[in-house]
Amino acid sequence: MQSSTLLTLSAKGIIPRVDYAIFADTGWEPKAVYEHLDRLEEEIAAPAGIPVLRVSAGNIRNDALNPDHRFASMPLHILNQDGRPGMTRRQCTGEYKIKPIKKKVRELLGYPYPNRIPKHVFVEQWVGISTDEFHRAKDADVKYMRNRHPLLDMSWSRADCVRYLTSLGLADTPKSSCLGCPFHGNAQWRQIRDTSPSEWTDVVEFDAAIRQGNARANVTGNKLLGEAFLHRSRVPLSQAPIDHVTSAERAALRISADEADVLENGLEDGCSPWACRGDADALTPDDFGLAT
Ligand code: SF4
Repeated sequence: MQSSTLLTLSAKGIIPRVDYAIFADTGWEPKAVYEHLDRLEEEIAAPAGIPVLRVSAGNIRNDALNPDHRFASMPLHILNQDGRPGMTRRQCTGEYKIKPIKKKVRELLGYPYPNRIPKHVFVEQWVGISTDEFHRAKDADVKYMRNRHPLLDMSWSRADCVRYLTSLGLADTPKSSCLGCPFHGNAQWRQIRDTSPSEWTDVVEFDAAIRQGNARANVTGNKLLGEAFLHRSRVPLSQAPIDHVTSAERAALRISADEADVLENGLEDGCSPWACRGDADALTPDDFGLAT
C-alpha cells in the first residue's frame, strides 16, 4: 500500500521522479499482488518513464521444501516436545528481499559484488513507510544506500495512502507478503480461504509439508524435537480456528486482548524489505536447529 503510494506520487510528479522502482519477489506472493504490480507498471510507472525492476533470490516456497537447497528459514510457529511454544528465526526477509535489492543496486551503481564501492557513490533509496508505522523507519546498513522516507516527510498516514490510491482507482491495492507467511492474522487466512480456493489449498499443503521443519533441516541431520506450523495456534492450518476466537478459546490460549488482536489482524500490513513484518529481535530462538 505505502510503496504503491510512493511510486504513484512520484509518477504523477507530486514528488520528484525516481530513477527506478524495485520489487523484491519471493516467488510466493498472492496472485492479486502480481496482478496489481502488472497494473501499476503498465498504468502508472511506464507512462512516467519509471522502470520497474523485479528482483528475486528464488522461490521461498519451493526452497523450503527442497532438501538440496540452503534455506533461509521462515518464522514458523513451533510446538516443542514439552509443549512450549516458540518460533524459528526469521531469515527470509534478508535472503529473499534485501539481498537481491542490494545486488541490483550495486549493478545500477556500476559496482557489482565483490567490487568495492567508493565512499562518495550511493543511491538514495525511498522507502514507503507511513506515520502510523514510523517506528519501522531505519537507516540502511550499507554506505552505498541512504534511506529516505517521503511519506513521513509529508506526514501521510496509511489512511492518506488509501484515500489517494482510491482517488486514482487503485482502491483494491493488496497487501504484499508471502502467501503462506506465518505472520498472517486470521483475517488474512480467511481472505485466502474465502476468495481463492486454489491458494488456500496451496498454503494448507505447504503447512502440512513443513510439520517437521523445512526439508533442509531433515537432511542436514538436525534432530527435530517438535512440530512446525503456519498458524499461531500451532494447529494444522486446515483445522486452525481462523473464523473467530471466543473468550473461552482466548482463555485456553492464555492470551490478552492485544494478542487476540494480533491473532486476528497479524503483526503488520505487509512485508516490505525494509520494514518486514514482526520484530526479528523479539523472536525466540528455536531449539530445533531449523534456523541454521
Ligand atoms: S512475508 Fe513472511 S515469509 Fe515472506 S519474507 Fe516476509 S516474513 Fe518471510
